[in-house]
Amino acid sequence: MNTVNLGCIADDFTGACDLANNLVAGGMRVLLLTGVPTRALAFATQESSLTVPFDAVVVALKSRTTSPKDAAVQSLAALRWLQAQGARQIYLKYCSTFDSTAQGNIGPVCDALMDALETDFTIATPAFPDNKRTVFKGHLFVGDTLLSESGMQNHPLTPMGDANLVRVLQAQTRRLVGLVDYAAVARGADTVRERIKDLKAQGVGIAIVDAISNDDLMRLGLSLKDMPLVTGGSGVAIGLPQNFGITPSEKASFLPKAEGLQAVVSGSCSLATNAQVQAFVAAGLPGLAIDPLRMTSGENAVHEALAWAAPLLQNGPVLVYSTAESTAIKKVQSRLGVEQSGAWVERTLAAIAKGLVQLGVRQLIVAGGETSGACVQALGIPQMQIGPQIAPGVPWCHAFSDSMPLHIALKSGNFGGDDFFTDAFKMLA
Ligand code: ADP
Repeated sequence: MNTVNLGCIADDFTGACDLANNLVAGGMRVLLLTGVPTRALAFATQESSLTVPFDAVVVALKSRTTSPKDAAVQSLAALRWLQAQGARQIYLKYCSTFDSTAQGNIGPVCDALMDALETDFTIATPAFPDNKRTVFKGHLFVGDTLLSESGMQNHPLTPMGDANLVRVLQAQTRRLVGLVDYAAVARGADTVRERIKDLKAQGVGIAIVDAISNDDLMRLGLSLKDMPLVTGGSGVAIGLPQNFGITPSEKASFLPKAEGLQAVVSGSCSLATNAQVQAFVAAGLPGLAIDPLRMTSGENAVHEALAWAAPLLQNGPVLVYSTAESTAIKKVQSRLGVEQSGAWVERTLAAIAKGLVQLGVRQLIVAGGETSGACVQALGIPQMQIGPQIAPGVPWCHAFSDSMPLHIALKSGNFGGDDFFTDAFKMLA
């Protein structure tokens, strides 16, 4: 009988991988589910011959930019399912840059989960020092700059123009938002507990917590032992396995042996992914650009890409990408429309990913959050077992796509160094 210690709800797919990766680093064996399953965990795992007992389950949703109401409905469905599997603590995961609109969805989902769990207090911190996200005096820093000057102020869907998270969250929730500041976090779990007691007495329901290092998060973790709901980026998760008597172990990231052909599909247009695509091509490896302006028919684009890849795959990894710099993207968007071009690219890349797997690819990297969601759906992957970390926030996973075993890595746009793609395949070998 599997005991799920920690039940997690993530607001997007790559974010779910990021969270799972940190739990695995802490020694937990983690199963990631794409969407809320209709059946109990025991059946879901049996079907994919997953016999390992899991310490944590992460339900990946696509709720970051839907309406607050829809995000709450999806999150509550995930909560009910996790509770039915016996989850002892619930973790809500959102982006480490606190991606949200003025209406949500972080605040509304916190409210809905707190109501359902009948709990009067939770924390909220996106701190993830391994990826240079730190919180100090309630302000979120990305590297050395405030969130509001990090480029995130220009995000097309969730522009973050204020780095003061107490203020940002207060605009989204009916609960009073407070701060557990660095002075308390630095002193340790007992002081954090005292501070939480004071805040509760003042009527605070959700507290942003400062943290600038992994040591801070480990100390914070101890103080969260009995909290029914914890919310944060993936960073807070590193301090939770210790509360269940679990310590880091290589066994947690054990995956079946990787076999088969290798490919990368990239729809992310972030600075990091642009550099990764350039590095792959500069290393003399084969890359094919998909240009929505040149190929208006998605079917033709898929056909062309697969015909191009088929003879090359035997020699090593291939890359199919729509990744481009912002001026090129703007040109596409002004001609075809923002939503239409995005949807076209996602559909096309997802069909290419599926075709590549049919050609024998069993080691697949997908770059881009939305792109990953589309590919996972097209590949019909209901669940993934989480393996070793390639770069902070990105693990290799093992899944079954239409009954075929597949190693897959879902990379959030901004994660990973320049040689991420080649490093990832070397690591599996
Ligand atoms: P990231 O994780 O970097 O944000 P996503 O996959 O989430 O990456 O988002 C990238 C978005 O940009 C997707 O909707 C994708 O379809 C779209 N896109 C990618 N390439 C192009 C392109 N060449 N022209 C227009 N839109 C594109």
